[in-house]
Amino acid sequence: MEPLLRFLMPASRDLDPEVERDRYRGALLGLAIGNALGVPVEGFSALDISSIPPDRLRVIRPEEADAPWDDDVAQAIELAECLLEGPLDADAYMARLLRWAAESGRGMGRQTYYVLVKARAGTQGTDAAREVWEESGRYAAGNGAVMRCAPVALRWRRDPVRLVEDAGHSARVTHYDPRCVWTTAATCAAIAHALAGTHWTLHELADGLDGVGAPEEVGEAVRHSATSDLGGLDLDESSSIGYTVRAMTAGLWALLNARDFETTLLEVIRAGGDTDTNGAVAGAVLGAKFGASAIPQRWIEGLPDPHRMTALADRLCEAAHC
Ligand SMILES: [Mg+2]
Repeated sequence: MEPLLRFLMPASRDLDPEVERDRYRGALLGLAIGNALGVPVEGFSALDISSIPPDRLRVIRPEEADAPWDDDVAQAIELAECLLEGPLDADAYMARLLRWAAESGRGMGRQTYYVLVKARAGTQGTDAAREVWEESGRYAAGNGAVMRCAPVALRWRRDPVRLVEDAGHSARVTHYDPRCVWTTAATCAAIAHALAGTHWTLHELADGLDGVGAPEEVGEAVRHSATSDLGGLDLDESSSIGYTVRAMTAGLWALLNARDFETTLLEVIRAGGDTDTNGAVAGAVLGAKFGASAIPQRWIEGLPDPHRMTALADRLCEAAHC
């Protein structure tokens, strides 16, 4: 784990407490806002989206205010609650996911659905996720772990060992493939650096991933994100919509090319594909970088329960200092 830990060490630096709290809140609000903005165009190509009036893409639909959280946000909230109890317990997180699925389950991906069916039937720990992955011929590598991972970065930005461990544990509860594990770790690492405002490069991140034996597709995609324009990430390529590597690159690209929260988040959503998840990942990294104070108020007010997100962010910020 050494090379990735070396990459993460600077992200543990001290910050002005006000700035730190603003960025923590920004990460969770950004995740929820990116998700809500992306929901109406989920699965669209960039070409389809280009025919939609730009102002319509800048609005969170009013019905979102009364809707249950979409899966990306709901699963991140449950993950945050689990992490506030200590290092991640896979069974406790699964129990929370099962409860969410029974109450709402809005937006749940297929891979997660199959895993929850096995878990409900009694398969323990991460065995359900491993079985579903093996039954897919070790092919299934959906973005369902990357989409919800921001709370891991918030909880453990001061503890790189735990950050990498819990990024992996949180992924394996539903997404067992090593590509899912390491794209989740890479996204958490990027969010931790965004929170800390530290200087880093995607080449350092890619070297760290290669050094810990992550699948080479992950390191390659990280390097590609460093040089590619947004179109070159192929977020809307129909055969790979929902692939974990795509969601990670959406987040990394957003961070590297960040102009301001609004502009860059909308650019990512306009690139199409799994827009609600790409939006959630890009929103989390941009919110971590710029802070809640840089997020348009109309977007915060369009969320079902923004106070839930800010309260969770504050608790994670406090826990990160313990
Ligand atoms: Mg979703």
